[in-house]
Amino acid sequence: MPTYSTSAILIRRVDYGDYDLILNFLTRDRGKISAIAKSAKRSRKRFGGVLELFNSLDIVVSRGRGKGLSVVNEASLIKPLFNIGTDIKKTAYASYWAELTNLWLEEGRAQTGIYDLLDHVLAELDAGAVSGEVLSILFQMRFLNLSGLCPNLSHCSTCSIETDAAPRHRMNFDLSKGGVVCERCAPYGKEEHCLSRGTIKQLQWIDNGDIRKATRIRFSAQALKEGLRFLESFVPYHLGKEPRSLKFLRQIR
Ligand SMILES: [Zn+2]
Repeated sequence: MPTYSTSAILIRRVDYGDYDLILNFLTRDRGKISAIAKSAKRSRKRFGGVLELFNSLDIVVSRGRGKGLSVVNEASLIKPLFNIGTDIKKTAYASYWAELTNLWLEEGRAQTGIYDLLDHVLAELDAGAVSGEVLSILFQMRFLNLSGLCPNLSHCSTCSIETDAAPRHRMNFDLSKGGVVCERCAPYGKEEHCLSRGTIKQLQWIDNGDIRKATRIRFSAQALKEGLRFLESFVPYHLGKEPRSLKFLRQIR
């Protein structure tokens, strides 16, 4: 069987029988792949205990013939994560990002931008200097952008007036239109569907430029609340389903 090696992040892991694991990886070179790790469950020694969720690994994979599953032959850790697995809130955020990646991406299509993004937010989450909330806004905004589903925040989706020139200091977001609508066009918008101008600015800043600088943006408590509320409705709406990990995240938050 032809063999290749690549960097990969483990985004899903399920038991397969008594001995094996079925793993989904986001690889740097080949996008999302799934593969079986034989005897990984029976013996932790087989892969040195590195096949844990969210780990960043170098893997060697034999490609399956026809519709056969690929097989993981070797896996080694690129950098260890110390803090995600022992912190329930960090685990909840990492699970949400991994599930989005797993649900959204097609198998076998390289998405280097999304790989670098996921790698970055997991490392920052583990390091702990930036909160899970800010990283989740960063991840979702950039993930949507890289997937071609960037929400329109710059102008009213109905009359096209620019957000800065809109009559009030807030806009309503309309999921079906994929963006914001001014208060003149949607005067009876619900309170929970509103984004203040300040929040919109911060969402636009975090979506642009160098990713390391983007995480230094200081979000106000209101911007965090509005931004997360907006993205956590926008993402499931476009995904066509509510990720299971999002329910869990809401519970523990
Ligand atoms: Zn309008």
